[in-house]
Amino acid sequence: LENVNRELSTLFNSIDEIFFSVNMVTLTVIQVSDTCEKLYGYTQSEFMANYKLWLDIIHPDDKHLVETEDAEMRRGEKISNQYRIIRKDKMIRWVETRITPTLDDDGILIRVDGISRDITDSRNAKEELHKSEERYRQIVETAQEGIWLIDENNYISFFNKKMCEILGYSEKEMKGKHLFDFMDEEGKKNALSQIEKGKQKINGNYDVKYITKSGKPIWANISTNSVFSAHGQYNGALAMVTDITRRKSGEELLHQSEIDLAIKNKDLERKNTELEQFAYVASHDLQEPLSTTISFVELFKQKYEGKLDAKADAYLTYIVQASRRMRVLIKDLLDFSRIGHSKDFEKVDCNVILKNVMADLDKIIKDSGAEITSERLPVLTGYSTELKQLFQNLIVNSIKFGKKNVFPKINITTQKNNDYWQFAFSDNGIGIDQQHSERIFIIFQRLHTRAEYEGSGIGLSHCKKIVELHRGKLWVESTPNKGSTFYFTIHSPKENTHETEIKLHHAHR
Ligand code: ADP
Repeated sequence: LENVNRELSTLFNSIDEIFFSVNMVTLTVIQVSDTCEKLYGYTQSEFMANYKLWLDIIHPDDKHLVETEDAEMRRGEKISNQYRIIRKDKMIRWVETRITPTLDDDGILIRVDGISRDITDSRNAKEELHKSEERYRQIVETAQEGIWLIDENNYISFFNKKMCEILGYSEKEMKGKHLFDFMDEEGKKNALSQIEKGKQKINGNYDVKYITKSGKPIWANISTNSVFSAHGQYNGALAMVTDITRRKSGEELLHQSEIDLAIKNKDLERKNTELEQFAYVASHDLQEPLSTTISFVELFKQKYEGKLDAKADAYLTYIVQASRRMRVLIKDLLDFSRIGHSKDFEKVDCNVILKNVMADLDKIIKDSGAEITSERLPVLTGYSTELKQLFQNLIVNSIKFGKKNVFPKINITTQKNNDYWQFAFSDNGIGIDQQHSERIFIIFQRLHTRAEYEGSGIGLSHCKKIVELHRGKLWVESTPNKGSTFYFTIHSPKENTHETEIKLHHAHR
């Protein structure tokens, strides 16, 4: 018996769990494993001396956990509890205790037997896990993206609040839903092929269409990650979902308007070409019969002038004048339709252009006593012949529309703005009434009779076409009787000059 007792006692004291028994009639401790000191810091004899020491060392914050214990034991119920204790050295440990009460025949509690064990490590690990779970939960819940998880049968097994928001369902409604509940037929087909890819471990990024609770289609961008078990079996997929409906509809609108614009552009280009061709063909082909008419009219005049009556002579003169004028108009029209059909873009030194124009206009300038001043002009890329024509037309007009008995003064200034040069040609001429400031740029529109000022009314429309060819604008600011300033801009970007040149050129062609 002694041997058995010894063996039992060795066993009793060698395991980590601590056994204890209390006589609840005499309120004395019957036995306690001597390993108790390892867990509690209190010795076996300290426990033996005080049957309530078990309770005294429970952490004050956890005392409530054992409040009902006494009543339960007295009813004979087994108890299991987890709480913190404060060791003798004030260290805190987590303990799990299971107690079996024994009642006598009258139902009076006579004895309790218990086992305690240290669960601090697993408890801490659990707490850590709980904390990290909590952290992840917060991240998932506060995420600006929808996050959801589908299982291997495509049922939604997890979702965050944002996902509910995106799809318009409450959290309750969302539970148990199938992925296809949010898709139309086309969406289902796409989803299936995406899932198949996922099963082959190809994670993807897709734009998908979902149908919300209200039946409204929305667009989302999803990035998916398939989930596999430790044995490599497909367990479903995790998707991060961003609502891109607004971006998508913006993109679609933009795309549509780009298409519309391209169509209109093509249309415009075609009409423009047709118009130019028409003007060219008409003016070119009209020249021939007109030349013949003029030759014969002049011949007729030479031969028959003075041989018919005075009226006939006058009529003949009118016919000759009108035909000559028509020749000028048609030549102007031909020149107009030819603008930009010359050479390619090239570097143009505007100082040289001005010098050449002034040399060409030497006689007019001298006759009129005009004074032309200019600041240093830029070198830019453009059509040199056309730019020369532009300078010439503006200068000729300023001289032509000068005030009587006043020497014309023309001043040229420039200014560089972002990606264009702005030119200003100012004169001290007769000026233009504000109401005509648009009309003068229309082909064959003039403000004066030919008797007042020579001209066909094509000069400024020429200028306009030339400026537009250089992606610029032409306009006038003027005060009648004081003078006018004609402004125009020439596109001239700082960088990529070469590339822009080519583009400009192609755009024009
Ligand atoms: P044209 O000179 O053959 O009449 P334009 O197209 O060059 O044709 O000019 C159109 C009209 O604009 C002119 O008839 C004139 O009335 C007005 N105009 C042009 N330049 C000036 C200027 N510098 N000062 C005043 N009026 C001008």
